[in-house]
Amino acid sequence: MAKEKNGKKHADMDQPGLAALSPFELKDELIKAAGGGAVERPANVSMLNAGRGNPNFLATIPRHGFWQLGLFAMREAERSFAYLPEGVGGFPRRDGLEERFDLFLREHKGVDGIDFLRGAVSYVRDQLGLSAGDFLYEMCEGILASNYPVPDRMLKLSEVIVGQYLRREMIGKHPFVGEFDVFAVEGGTAAMTYIFNTMRENHLIKEGDTIALGMPIFTPYIEIPRLNDYRLNVVNLEADVANGWQYSKQELDKLRDPKVKAFFLVNPSNPPSVRIDDESLQYIADIVKERPDLILLTDDVYGTFADDFVSLFALAPKNTILVYSYSKYFGATGWRLGTIATHRDNVMDRLIAGLPKDAKKQLHERYESITTEPDKLKFIDRLVADSRTVALNHTAGLSTPQQVQMVLFSLFSLMDTPDAYKNALKRLIRSRKQALYEEVGISFEDDDPNQVDYYTILDIEFLGSRMYGREFVDWLLKNTEPSELLFRLAREARVVLLPGRGFGTQHPSGRVSLANLNESDYRLIGRALRRLIEEYVERFNAATGKNLDKTKVK
Ligand SMILES: *Cc1c(COP(=O)(O)O)cnc(C)c1O
Repeated sequence: MAKEKNGKKHADMDQPGLAALSPFELKDELIKAAGGGAVERPANVSMLNAGRGNPNFLATIPRHGFWQLGLFAMREAERSFAYLPEGVGGFPRRDGLEERFDLFLREHKGVDGIDFLRGAVSYVRDQLGLSAGDFLYEMCEGILASNYPVPDRMLKLSEVIVGQYLRREMIGKHPFVGEFDVFAVEGGTAAMTYIFNTMRENHLIKEGDTIALGMPIFTPYIEIPRLNDYRLNVVNLEADVANGWQYSKQELDKLRDPKVKAFFLVNPSNPPSVRIDDESLQYIADIVKERPDLILLTDDVYGTFADDFVSLFALAPKNTILVYSYSKYFGATGWRLGTIATHRDNVMDRLIAGLPKDAKKQLHERYESITTEPDKLKFIDRLVADSRTVALNHTAGLSTPQQVQMVLFSLFSLMDTPDAYKNALKRLIRSRKQALYEEVGISFEDDDPNQVDYYTILDIEFLGSRMYGREFVDWLLKNTEPSELLFRLAREARVVLLPGRGFGTQHPSGRVSLANLNESDYRLIGRALRRLIEEYVERFNAATGKNLDKTKVK
């Protein structure tokens, strides 16, 4: 939380409560300052909002596939025995489905999405060894959405396919023994909500318990533990900008404290957008060997933007809850698609089985209405039940059209060899970063293989001292509020960035999303930043009698 220093205030911070706002809410204030109104309008081209994590790109091919599949499924519904011309259709029929689908593909030859669907069905049959007919049936029923999601955790073949996708993107070539279960959820947002809740309901975390957070981190991970619902103690593990945003061994050693029940991290991180290096991941995995009761939650929504990404889930599978979202990589925030994955043999189940008698009795009663053996209910199935207040377990689950789109996104990526889509996205965001920094006047070493570049952090202290030296930075920090810089950027240049502080960065900084504007916009943002910096250099020179060269680039 930004604190007022020595009673010195910035005009914008006079508004009561502004300092307490989450960065996402503060963004709305910045948008107002930029003249964008309370609700931002995409048509308002003169404002440059780089505060949004929402990408401005989206995957077209698997969406084409979705719509074509929908047309085929409609044909099935209308050829069903139950069809009435008043607009009453019926369920698709399993027998002959493959043949009718082939006919549909032939009739629609050359239409966008058709080749993708043909490839997807072959992939499912030939590469994954599943029944093409069963797959088509699940997809048709799913897209028509005429049945409750069954099984409620996830449709059967959908789970296998999404599991393969997670394996490819999160585990890769890393050895992985055993199987994992997947729960399809309404984005990373629901994943977080459900996991915190079920961990509490099942006594894995309780009021006053300590968890560790890998900082800086996506703000909700900071805010949720503070809520009245949880009241957790938090130990921060700090990644250091000067250390390429990696965690030092000393920071990671905080996980050795037996008081720490769980460690939550975002990898690659948000906002620094750097993946934890292999050595640190191994170090965490080694700590887990000493502390087999430690629960890890890794939120890997940016993993697909990294080269050869390997999740902590691959290194410590039995201790790790894996959260993934389709929002960023496929440009699909409106779809609300995410997953929670846990290994079939995991510490959460073991800890629940070892709870004191009273707690176990209470949990037995909690879940008794949904299974004859509530004590054996897996953690991941408890998540499903708790997501619908247990009593509505029978109507739980992600809507089936959502699962269909999730499956098509997954298949698209599985079939994306050799990584054409992935490389196109990487090129896109990296050239935006290049444009931004060029205009600011900073050359950046892009040889850090752990840089993912979905966001970039403009760390005043780090970049300022690199460009103009320590004395300038000390003067700047003493004479300005971090939010002053953000508000000036908004008011004067109509550029909106998010404050890094809200994500728990150690130094004043701004988060620039590289995903949601065009390259020319990043040039404009870079130029606005440059003007602001030069002005502060002039002021510094006037105030101190020094003679820094404001045109310097570094
Ligand atoms: C964007 C984001 C989410 C939210 O994802 P949704 O699937 O859109 O709800 C979760 N975690 C992190 C780290 C994110 O950046």
